[in-house]
Amino acid sequence: MIRCVSCGEEYGDDEVIYTCEKCGSVLELVNEIDVSKDIFDGRKDNLWKFKECIPVDETKIVSLDEGGTPFCRCDKLGDELGVNLYVKVEGSNPTGSFKDRGMTVGMTKAMELGVSTVGCASTGNTSASLSAYAARAGLRCIVFLPSGKVALGKLAQAMFHGAEVMSINGNFDEALEAMTALALEKHLYLLNSINPYRLEGQKTIGYEIVRDLGWQAPDRIILPVGNAGNISAIWKGVKEFYDAGFIKDLPMMTGIQAEGACPVTNAFKKGDKRVVPVENPETIATAIRIGAPVSDIKALNAIYDSNGYSETVTDEEILDAQKLLARTEGIGVEPASAASIAGLKKLVDEGVVDKGETITCVVTGHLLKDPNTAIDACTQPTEVDADIDTLREILMNK
Ligand SMILES: *Cc1c(COP(=O)(O)O)cnc(C)c1O
Ligand SMILES: [Zn+2]
Repeated sequence: MIRCVSCGEEYGDDEVIYTCEKCGSVLELVNEIDVSKDIFDGRKDNLWKFKECIPVDETKIVSLDEGGTPFCRCDKLGDELGVNLYVKVEGSNPTGSFKDRGMTVGMTKAMELGVSTVGCASTGNTSASLSAYAARAGLRCIVFLPSGKVALGKLAQAMFHGAEVMSINGNFDEALEAMTALALEKHLYLLNSINPYRLEGQKTIGYEIVRDLGWQAPDRIILPVGNAGNISAIWKGVKEFYDAGFIKDLPMMTGIQAEGACPVTNAFKKGDKRVVPVENPETIATAIRIGAPVSDIKALNAIYDSNGYSETVTDEEILDAQKLLARTEGIGVEPASAASIAGLKKLVDEGVVDKGETITCVVTGHLLKDPNTAIDACTQPTEVDADIDTLREILMNK
């Protein structure tokens, strides 16, 4: 069953619907877990090991073996910050971001509904993922990207997997509005995160974090927030496992935004339940360069209900954290993902995060998604002849 998060109106699973027909608010799937957690044991460690908890037809599954991503204990960085730090590495998904979790479920639903065309507006990763899953499913795929603002790796993926890519003169929020209008005219099935089936896939990040901690919640889950679907999904996941009795505590959901695109943090700091959109959002972290997040209600509920927090970080803090994670722990992430690490640092400094807390930072996308930013942050290699004497001298003098 699909239910409106604001007015509670209910809709059937077979309806193609993105927002509430009565009040216009966002929708969510309502499902109860009636299995024992033991049934997950011994299954291949991907997202579909939790298939009993995902409300789609399992005979229609379109999968690239997503989920089951690394959960890395990071003692060097954790000790420096005075916390027990684990990093959930979502860049290890098939197309290099957590969007694959949402897309495998969304595409499975598309097959169940029998649609022929899928579409999304994207800051990059949603389109990279959708185009791969659409190729696998054999469906036509339409993608709208904000012109000139998509990281190179993501653009390459969307085009290479054969999507019909259009560069829209406008920002992400405007591209999404146009794509949504076409979906409502039934030209295509919309697979942005306003589609509640996307979040049914992404909630498995929450499942895996508590499973990987030995059926325990961390004190806090920290992640970057853009359109605000992922923080809502992860909270839904951990709450479902809590309601099923699999875990005894809940984590504080902590959403980090870029200073130039921070409507959720602004709302949180005022205690509001809705955001005021930010006009002309700006940040180097293109994946979270969003001014009007569609899941603001769900995300703010997640933060308030979990006694969580929201904070902003600057582009400089993001780039510093990206380098720090890469150089102290060997984990390469794209700028948006590093917002979680930058946010952790800032919250430790501010005293919001207590010493000794067990923290999971979700790093959402792979370093190579945005190769230009990575290269720009480094000094270029020196050119040297392949002469052993010269090379030895350079190495020894360093
Ligand atoms: C999509 C994305 C985000 C933002 O997630 P939302 O669900 O839109 O809040 C953050 N980081 C990366 C790498 C992403 O691709
Ligand atoms: Zn409603």
